[in-house]
Parts: sequence; structure tokens; C-alpha cells
Amino acid sequence: MSKSLIVTIDGPAGSGKSTAAKYLAEKLGYIYLDTGAMYRAITYAALQRNIANEKDAVIELARNIDLKLEFVNGVTRVFVNGEEVTEQIRTPEVNSMVSEVSTIPEVRQELVKLQRKIGENGGLIAEGRDTTTVVFPDADVKIYLTASMESRVERRYQEYLAKGQQVDVNEVRENIKKRDIIDSQREVSPLKKADDAIEFDNTATPIDKEIEKILNIIYEKEKSIQ
Ligand code: C5P
Repeated sequence: MSKSLIVTIDGPAGSGKSTAAKYLAEKLGYIYLDTGAMYRAITYAALQRNIANEKDAVIELARNIDLKLEFVNGVTRVFVNGEEVTEQIRTPEVNSMVSEVSTIPEVRQELVKLQRKIGENGGLIAEGRDTTTVVFPDADVKIYLTASMESRVERRYQEYLAKGQQVDVNEVRENIKKRDIIDSQREVSPLKKADDAIEFDNTATPIDKEIEKILNIIYEKEKSIQ
């Protein structure tokens, strides 16, 4: 079976992108590329250095950072200059700053370069808000996931609880709303559905049902280009 496809999954926070992308990558033996983890890693490193509000310093950081992702046993391990920051990039501090850092065009340029390099041989499931529109506009399969605000909030809230993190559901809602606004209104690579992306709204359908449908679309595509 061919293993050269590029599959992209876009959508807003809490839409089920990660669940879908991880499952599909494992099932198909593809590389899983979590682009959000990259923006989070830069944000974390900038916060550590107290430069998150200094645009030029953040750009300099993005140009020089040694960023590595490893997907092992369903988890993306993230390394910044050799130090593992897998847990640290998922904190509320990073959540509340990452969308600001992601608006900087030069930061995006650096990360997009790296993302394309990771995908140069295909066999890739790329997840993230601009993977379909900007990073891999010629992807073989393009998926756009959505769900209602409340089901996205509930999904994210349950994820925090499952990790043993105590969070206020209202804060989760506010953070998602804020990120939706920044991500969809920014000038460079805003979150939007590509015209040729297949949209799945999983408000009422469990995500596993949607994933099976996506898997079948990928199998069909693999067959068609063999
Ligand atoms: O997907 P995740 O929630 O980890 O992404 C964190 C943030 O990184 C998003 O809210 C968005 O601001 C930014 N991001 C982005 N482009 C991507 C992936 C993530 O701007 N391709």
C-alpha cells in the first residue's frame, strides 16, 4: 500500500483535531505532525526568557531555536534546545499567550519551513489551523473539523480533568473564545476552511464515527494513486 499521502486536519480549538490526527497516524503508520505544539514550544521558550511581548526578540528566538518533535506511544514529545518541554507547553500561561505569538508572520515563516521539511516525503498527518490552507495547500486529503462552542468547551474541559488538572469550565470557555477570535482574524494564515476541504461537524456525532469516515476517505485516496 502507498504511504506517500499528505493529510491535513484543520479546525478550531477543541474540535477533535488531535484525537483524529493521532489515531489516523497510528493506524496508518504515518508521521503525526502537531503544528500547534511547535507554536506552543516557541511561546514557552519566549515566556521562559521573559521576551513573549517583544516581537523582534521572539522572531530571533524562532530563527535560532532547535525544535524537535517525537511521536511515541500516542504522545508528541517536544524538545527545545535539547530540553524536553512536553508538559510545559500545555499550561494555562502558554494557552493564553500562544495565539499572540502565532500572529507574528516571521515566526510562522520559520515554522512552516520546518513543517514542510517534515512532510517532504509524504506519509504525514498534519494537524493545525493553517495546515490545509497554507502549509500543505496541495495535500491529498484535506479535512476541516468543527463542533459547537459548548461541545468544544466540554471536550477540552474533560481533557484537563483526565490529566488531573483542576480548571474552571468558564476559563476554558473564555480561552477558547479568545483563541478563536485571534486565530480567525489574524492577517497571516487565519483559521479558515479551504474550499476543497471536507468538513465534519462532530457536535452531535461521536468523534470516533467521524474518524472512521476520514480513514475510509484516506484509504480510497491511497488506492486511487497506487
Ligand atoms: O492546536 P493547539 O491548540 O495546540 O494550538 C495552539 C495555538 O497555536 C492555536 O490557538 C493557534 O494560535 C496556534 N496555531 C497556529 N497555527 C497552527 C497551529 C497552531 O497559529 N498551524
